[in-house]
Amino acid sequence: MQTLEFDNRFIRELPGDPDTSVRPRQVTGACWSPVQPTPVAAPRLIAYSPEVAAALGLTAADVRDPRFAEVFAGNALLPGMAPWAACYGGHQFGNWAGQLGDGRAISLGEALGADGNRHELQLKGAGPTPYSRMADGRAVLRSSLREFLCSEAMHHLGVPTTRALSLVLTGEEVVRDMFYDGHPRAEPGAIVCRVAPSFIRLGNFELFAARGERDLLARLVDFTIRRDFPELDPEAPDCIARWFEEVCVRTARLIAHWMRVGFVHGVMNTDNLSILGLTIDYGPYGWLEDVDPNWTPNTTDAHGRRYAFGRQPEIGQWNLLCLARALASLVEDPEPLRAALERYVEVYSDEYRRMHAAKLGLREITETDVVLVQQLYRLMQQAEVDFTLAFRALADVDPAHPSPAPLESAFYREDLRARHADAWQDWLDDYAARIRQDALPAAERRESMASVNPRYVLRNWLAQQAIDQAEQGDYTMVGELMEVLRRPYDDQPGREAFAARRPEWARHRAGCSMLSCSS
Ligand code: AMP
Ligand code: MG
Repeated sequence: MQTLEFDNRFIRELPGDPDTSVRPRQVTGACWSPVQPTPVAAPRLIAYSPEVAAALGLTAADVRDPRFAEVFAGNALLPGMAPWAACYGGHQFGNWAGQLGDGRAISLGEALGADGNRHELQLKGAGPTPYSRMADGRAVLRSSLREFLCSEAMHHLGVPTTRALSLVLTGEEVVRDMFYDGHPRAEPGAIVCRVAPSFIRLGNFELFAARGERDLLARLVDFTIRRDFPELDPEAPDCIARWFEEVCVRTARLIAHWMRVGFVHGVMNTDNLSILGLTIDYGPYGWLEDVDPNWTPNTTDAHGRRYAFGRQPEIGQWNLLCLARALASLVEDPEPLRAALERYVEVYSDEYRRMHAAKLGLREITETDVVLVQQLYRLMQQAEVDFTLAFRALADVDPAHPSPAPLESAFYREDLRARHADAWQDWLDDYAARIRQDALPAAERRESMASVNPRYVLRNWLAQQAIDQAEQGDYTMVGELMEVLRRPYDDQPGREAFAARRPEWARHRAGCSMLSCSS
């Protein structure tokens, strides 16, 4: 562990806050504040990602060393670490919220990994910072486990994401009122060490623009391009427009992936969107079970449904529009920014089509196929069909004799299955005809479908079961889920239970279909 090398460019090259206290305040003229993690009572490592450890160059012996839990609980620093909290703002639920900042995230440093990449190490829940406002800077086991498991699962699904190195229990309790309804309870505290090349969000740029801190904004843009977008020429006159276009392209691809795997972020505020196009800030996210474009796991958003599954592509563009507005003062001609926002729509729709061609096992997708896809979604919604199971089962449809039999286990309700049986048969007949026309060899078709339609995702009720057990001190299921979700596209005999549709008990259970921002 002592061999980890740090190169903290963010704090070296960008202006910091001279105040070292954690007094809640507005921080101006600075991109970050120096801050120390607050030590916890009894750090205990309960899970870690061997892949992330290896990327950093940490060995199994490093992880077993008691100092590992100390460092990743915020009780000790390694040489070269220089902790900070970043200053950013954001639009929350469509409204400008002003300064937000890392209220409970503390970056330890930018490690130069054994894999040759830069990895910023960031503790979530390591105590107060100047951006904590009235809150405690802590995180509970329930939400930390959800972030830890899901970010690793997303990586293995091939979805761009921040990663997670470790999950440490703090040995302290944290009080949360989960549904903000006057029922606070003490929960076990935990800290995740998350890892990404950069944790810069759209909101970092927005804050400086909103305050008229144009020089700071220009410096942050230049820094981001130089450190995180080495493929761009920072001296080129149209560099900012090209960079913004790249951010649009990455965000479009990211959201197409979310739509491919049935992931609902839940809180797509501009402070929760990464400038690198990574999935970031796992809060009240969820996985689509029965297909419903209006579904959101986030009870805080139950009224407006702004961040529901089907609205994610549109909200992605809205967020990028906020970023474009923030950048406008830096460019002479705003036209290329507008063009980049249009490019977002193009890239998203190309990616969506490409991914759905693969999901259906077609070589490419035509206008008629788009109708076929729309009909499929409508049918899945009307008949309450499980998204993940249904797409996976399509590979088993026999093009010569199509029948709904392979889809049987995807239906949530027998009455709806019976009611829509004829419509399904019609759709399957059209689909089978289309596959026959495509004439992709059967094995190739199955293989390509299995590589985009996962068998295993972190189903909401599975995560909740792992949490229930972990809160009782049993981490067996955490380990099992990590194992299964490491190979989400492989059939794993004996692990069918992890691919099963939501059981009835989970339909309305808190933590399964209903989550809040309280974490
Ligand atoms: P989120 O909705 O989780 O992205 O959080 C929005 C803002 O609230 C961010 O600035 C967070 O740092 C801050 N925040 C959330 N929870 C806490 C907490 N327990 N303590 C301090 N700040 C928090
Ligand atoms: Mg956030």
